[in-house]
Amino acid sequence: MNYPKLLEPLDLGFTTIKNRSIMGSMHTGLEELDGGFERMAAYFAERAANGIGMIITGGIAPNFESSRGGATMSNEKEAAQHRLVTEAVHSADPDVKICMQILHPGPLAYTPDLVAPSPVKSRIGRYVPNELDKAGIQKQIDDHVKSALMAQKAGYDGVEIIGSAGYLISSFLVEKTNLREDEYGGSYENRMRFALEIVEQTRAAVGDDFILIFRIAAMDMLQGGMSWDEVVTLGQRLEQLGINIISTHFTWHESAVPTIATMVPRAAFTGVTGRLRKEVNVPVITSNRINMPDVAEKVLESGEADLVSMARTLLADPEFMSKAIEGREDEINTCIACNQACLDHTFGGKLTSCLVNPRACHETILNYEPTTQPKKIAVVGAGPAGLAYSVTAAQRGHDVTLFEASGEIGGQFNLAKQIPGKEEFHETIRYFNRMIEVHGIDLRLNTRADANGLKEGGFDRVIISTGITPRTPAIDGIDHPKVAGYIDVIKGNVAVGDRVAVIGAGGIGFDVCELISHSGPSSALDRDLFAAEWGVDFENHPRGGVTGVEPQVAPSSREIFLMQRKETSVGSGLGKTTGWTHRITLARRGIKMMKAVEYVRIDDAGLHVLRDGQPEVLDVDTIIICAGQEPLRELYDELEAAGVPTDLIGGAYEAAELDAKAAIKQASYLAAEV
Ligand code: NAP
Ligand code: SF4
Repeated sequence: MNYPKLLEPLDLGFTTIKNRSIMGSMHTGLEELDGGFERMAAYFAERAANGIGMIITGGIAPNFESSRGGATMSNEKEAAQHRLVTEAVHSADPDVKICMQILHPGPLAYTPDLVAPSPVKSRIGRYVPNELDKAGIQKQIDDHVKSALMAQKAGYDGVEIIGSAGYLISSFLVEKTNLREDEYGGSYENRMRFALEIVEQTRAAVGDDFILIFRIAAMDMLQGGMSWDEVVTLGQRLEQLGINIISTHFTWHESAVPTIATMVPRAAFTGVTGRLRKEVNVPVITSNRINMPDVAEKVLESGEADLVSMARTLLADPEFMSKAIEGREDEINTCIACNQACLDHTFGGKLTSCLVNPRACHETILNYEPTTQPKKIAVVGAGPAGLAYSVTAAQRGHDVTLFEASGEIGGQFNLAKQIPGKEEFHETIRYFNRMIEVHGIDLRLNTRADANGLKEGGFDRVIISTGITPRTPAIDGIDHPKVAGYIDVIKGNVAVGDRVAVIGAGGIGFDVCELISHSGPSSALDRDLFAAEWGVDFENHPRGGVTGVEPQVAPSSREIFLMQRKETSVGSGLGKTTGWTHRITLARRGIKMMKAVEYVRIDDAGLHVLRDGQPEVLDVDTIIICAGQEPLRELYDELEAAGVPTDLIGGAYEAAELDAKAAIKQASYLAAEV
């Protein structure tokens, strides 16, 4: 057995979890969709059939005032809908447990009816909450209890009550959001009361043979957040009240420390879970950036947790656990922690999916059925689009030849993987290399396919995924030797000077600035460096883990100007849930971000610009162009003219959509139908 700890059953006395893997809670948007419960049933059942030990659903609100306009579990009618999910999971594998997460967002609810212990608006909340009176508090407790009872009725094996993240229960626990002077505020004993009464009354209602999990903010990353003693006390009191499992969480949504983005080291926070585990006698779950089975095994082996929760990991690959069990871990489609199709969608009000797996949450819509009419297909270009197409078509039984002009697969991912903090892109390239072997794709590296060869090659269909060419802006002096393209800079083909102007502040402008302002090893690979950069003290655990800790960021040794023509703030177009991390990092390194810039010319003196109509010369020695891309589609045009059946995908189809999410999705849907 490759992963003895991960695969070890956990006996809870009245029931057994078949192994130590948990699919963690993620709101997907299916909860509110018409026909969403059928789709959710298929989504969870696929994971249940592939070896996961326990599933926690996305957060479900216990009542209307907490529902954010979203799904609630408050009556028998709603319970009946959830039966679709529990039955699908239990019939996929009767040994898999599924628990419903009860999530009362409190001050983060998207409704003016929102409630909280005190009228303190969250930094990221929409409204000032309505302060609960005592009757209101009891109603919230009763609604939690009823929600758990309905979940039991719906066939769930248990519930997880979320007491973290800035949602209602955690807002009682923390001083800055609980200004009450009655028995629910003031002393810590009083601030804990709401959480403890919910747990006590829920346990009394559901009986002993129902899994109760409480999600605790083991390090909330808040200035003035919970102290370590408070975390431990809460854990111990929950245990006395009959909680079966404590799940550790590491942030409030409003905190200024990234906890799941790609620059966070793998398993960065499991040490905190390990310390709590020593203080309680119930099993403890850890989480965050556990995306490969060896990482999970190591965490369990070192005694840091009893169970590992993996959420996005299971979006990226529903077969994660079965591949681990069968020793096929090199076939795992690894979550790269980009957030682009999951959390960015969730917080943007869109349905969740996954950049590397567009089937996620679309299991009833996008399926890769074996073909009944195998075709001979040529794919030109082994970037994300070409790779996704090739693998999907080949796994369905088509005969695929993949042409790539360079000596390696990956396209733009080969650039991304060079950026400090984006090391996870190596995993996607590893995955595609392995899939090429598994599905017998005929990969022709260092081969530039041409129209004649493709025409004569006897292919039934040709797919053009030739990608992009960087845009050259029409600026006077653009041919000056000071000017370099982003590809040459990232590949290290050109020397970059000490004073640099970066033209274009999109994702690639930011990536380039990250690269050229960075010194030393990547903090994504080193927990101590990460902690220092973001001001987290894992050792002493001041309140929230961060109170009074100054981030230690090495300033850039280069003077860098990052600029755009738009008047919007620089970086506002980056990912919803990750953009802030990039903006903060560059600002802390001293990069000067300039908006509303008009480029005039480039000459020996540097870059001449107009700002607010005033001329300015930036005395720089290197000007890096990151001004977007144009599609490369000559080959497509030639084949079309020659009447060869051809499809165009990825950046070659729409350079403005040069994002791997769109490319992989488009390629996968097309290959599912060929
Ligand atoms: P982009 O996001 O479209 O940004 C292009 C930048 O160039 C903009 O700042 C634009 O700003 C500027 N620009 C456009 N035309 C210009 C012109 N003619 N002259 C001067 N400036 C011009 O493109 P990108 O940065 O190359 O990124 C491409 C794609 O890669 C993105 O869509 C993204 O999906 C993906 N990506 C994402 C990330 C990430 O962190 N999530 C990282 C890297 C790449 P103005 O027009 O205001 O000047
Ligand atoms: Fe992971 Fe990105 Fe997929 Fe989200 S979209 S599950 S972060 S790979």
